[in-house]
Formats: sequence, structure tokens, C-alpha cells
Amino acid sequence: MPDGLIVKALSGYYYVLPDGEEPGQDGQLPTVQCRARGVFKKRSISPLVGDRVSFEHSENNEGTVTEIHKRQSELIRPPVANIEQAVLVFSLDEPALNLQLLDKFLVHIEHSGLEAVICFSKQDLVKGDGDGADQLDSSAVQKLYEEIGYRVFITSAKEGEGLEPVRHILKERLSVFSGQSGVGKSTLLNALLPELNLETGEISMRLGRGRHTTRHVELLALPDGGWVADTPGFSQLDFMEMEPEDLGGTFREFLPLAEECRFRGCLHHKEPGCRVREEAEGGGRVAPSRYEHYLIFLQEMKDRKRRY
Ligand code: GDP
Ligand code: ZN
Repeated sequence: MPDGLIVKALSGYYYVLPDGEEPGQDGQLPTVQCRARGVFKKRSISPLVGDRVSFEHSENNEGTVTEIHKRQSELIRPPVANIEQAVLVFSLDEPALNLQLLDKFLVHIEHSGLEAVICFSKQDLVKGDGDGADQLDSSAVQKLYEEIGYRVFITSAKEGEGLEPVRHILKERLSVFSGQSGVGKSTLLNALLPELNLETGEISMRLGRGRHTTRHVELLALPDGGWVADTPGFSQLDFMEMEPEDLGGTFREFLPLAEECRFRGCLHHKEPGCRVREEAEGGGRVAPSRYEHYLIFLQEMKDRKRRY
């Protein structure tokens, strides 16, 4: 039975790209339109875009998905399986850089077990002489996140700067672009992948607001191998699936320090002998902004627990 990859799901059909098949000249994928086998319904699992599957050909060039291979990861919103990395796009300006929101995205990605890559976009808006004092220091922000262990890229889609390293990390992987609307995700994707030959309007429609309410996801084949899921990414960031105890584990730089906290299960708030707080307040191994955001999220999670 042939194997393949589900690249699109629509109205009860799954579009499977058989292994070994490549996109055609026009970028079209030679997919087989499949139904899912009834047995999945009984077990209340359904195939997802990104699933590796086995399928059977039936008549009319249609097929049936007969088996879903083990998933490496699974996102619920957006519903995509086997995503390996999330590219978090945050503009340096317009809209202004929001590090609290970036840290929130990072919490969700760490909690989902994906790899996060950070891309600061619209570099052209902050470089140059500027007006000095209120000029954002993008290299300081870059350094902050690199020291935590993230890969950070600074790009300007408008001027075509910084694109090559991003192109490189997309190769051979299944990625999703996430970030607030207006940060430049679709412009960036278009600049990264002119070979895709999608019109900007089409991509922004695909990536943008129009899709938020639907559960439609599609994988775009990259010219050098690899896939990008054309979804606006994480639509809801409400900590619903997390407990306060889980939060510290999603702040990577806290992990080695948490071992040294006086109390096991330290929430790094007011506990005496908390190494995380000590470092944030003066030691230097935790950035004050990161600790501040941690406390805000912790409070949000505690408030939520109280309400339900
Ligand atoms: P999305 O909602 O994240 O997909 O954002 P868009 O790609 O639609 O871009 C939002 C706005 O930002 C548009 O007006 C773009 O022209 C603009 N934009 C995108 N990238 C850049 C950039 O690198 N520099 C500047 N100055 N503007 C950009
Ligand atoms: Zn602590």
C-alpha cells in the first residue's frame, strides 16, 4: 500500500501526495483525493494535514486513507500534525515590538514540544540615524533571545535583507509561521519564496484574517524541499491546557536555575531562596523582561484556575 503526506484537507477529503511525487512545473501537487476509512471515526481520531499516511487507490483516481502513521507532534489550533518548527514573526516596528506577546508565543511552542525560531521583521523601519533615544536596539533584543538558546533572524522583506538564513532553516522541514496580523508574515513568505509564484493577495488571503474562522490548513511545497503550513498560526493563546507548575519549564533559561531553588516545585514567585528571582533581580542570568512576563503569565494562570 503506498504511503504519502496529507497536504490539504477540505470538506471531508484529504489530499495525499504520494511519496516520491514532486510538485509540477506550475507548482501544482499531483495529489490523490482520499476519503478516510470509517474505522477512524469509530476510534474518534481523524487524519490531519501533515499526517504521514498509507492509502489505497480506488476508482476515479480517488483513494482511501487506511492508516495514520505515528505523529511526532500535533497542534490543535491550527490543526496540523508533525510540525517541526514555528517561525515566530515579530515586527521591530509597525506594530511596535511586543516582547510580552513573543514570550507568550514561546511558552506555547515550548509546551507543544516544537522548536521555535524567531524572526524580527521590518528591520528597515528601525535602522538608520533615527531619533536616538527611543530607537529600538534590535541587536540587544537579538542577543537576549540568542543567549537563551533561540535562533534569531532579523529581516526586511521590503529591502530583501536577511532572507537567506531563513530560507536555509526552512529546507526539508515542516514549518508554520506565527505572529500577530500585520507583522509581515505574508510579505516575508512571498519574499522568501518567489518561486512559489503566488500572488501577494492570494498569500495574504491564505495566511491572513480570512482564514481565522475556518479550520482549513494547507501545506505549501518549498522549492528546495520542505513545507510551510499556510495558517495564521496559533490563534488562541489562553493557557487553557497549562497548569502554573508547567510554566517554569517553558522558560528555557530558568531550567538550570530551578534545580538550585531552595524548594522543589518552586514557582519562582515569592519563595525564599529562589535562584530564578535572584538572577532576574541582579545576577544577570535571567533578563528582567523575561521574569516580568513570567510573573504576568503565572498570575493569568492562577486567575483562570480561580474562575473555573
Ligand atoms: P501579515 O498580516 O503578518 O501577513 O502582514 P503583511 O505581510 O500583510 O504585511 C503587513 C504590512 O506590513 C503591509 O503593509 C506590508 O507592506 C508591510 N511590510 C511587510 N514587510 C515589511 C518590511 O520588511 N518593511 C516594511 N517597512 N514594511 C513591511
Ligand atoms: Zn524558584
